[in-house]
Amino acid sequence: MFLFCDIDGVLIPFPDQAGAIPATHYRDQVIPTGREEPVPIWLNPAHGPLLAELAAATGLQPVWCTSWRSDAARLIGHRLGLPPWPHVKLPYLPITSSHPNGYLWKRDHVATHATGRPLAWIDDDFTSADHDWAEARTASGYPTLLIQPDPHQGIQAGHTETIRRWALTLPIGSGSHSPAHRTAAQHGGCASSSSSGFA
Ligand SMILES: [Mg+2]
Repeated sequence: MFLFCDIDGVLIPFPDQAGAIPATHYRDQVIPTGREEPVPIWLNPAHGPLLAELAAATGLQPVWCTSWRSDAARLIGHRLGLPPWPHVKLPYLPITSSHPNGYLWKRDHVATHATGRPLAWIDDDFTSADHDWAEARTASGYPTLLIQPDPHQGIQAGHTETIRRWALTLPIGSGSHSPAHRTAAQHGGCASSSSSGFA
């Protein structure tokens, strides 16, 4: 069973209309792979322990699912004190929308990665089609929980608490191919973001 985690709009909030970032976050800068100039990022140091404790308490296997790809662990997770989690090997697609087919472009890759397993997935950019998919996946025996933070606020303790409680409902052995019986897809607390690009 997996815990997929996005970065932009989840760990790095998007500035609001006034350009403000939550006061919980500090400014840093990183040089992503393939770039020569640093880019600014904003991180909340509490998020590292929050996610680490969630993984430890639930047994969920954390996986980065973000266009930061291999930079996620190296540039972001490391700064938060997290171990080097693996990442979903997302392709580089010639798309101009994060929902080229009406749903989040990462979804098929997540589905493949988590075939036959329950999954929780934190991302700020789900559409209603993604929530429908999660409900259908859950109904077919593979509990699927989508958590959708406000992209201007990012993940909150309440989100991880929701995941923790959800994980406790998973049947023993659900890390295997045994179908589960719970219905746990959940809509997050905000509408989909149109500002998050492909993050
Ligand atoms: Mg995002």
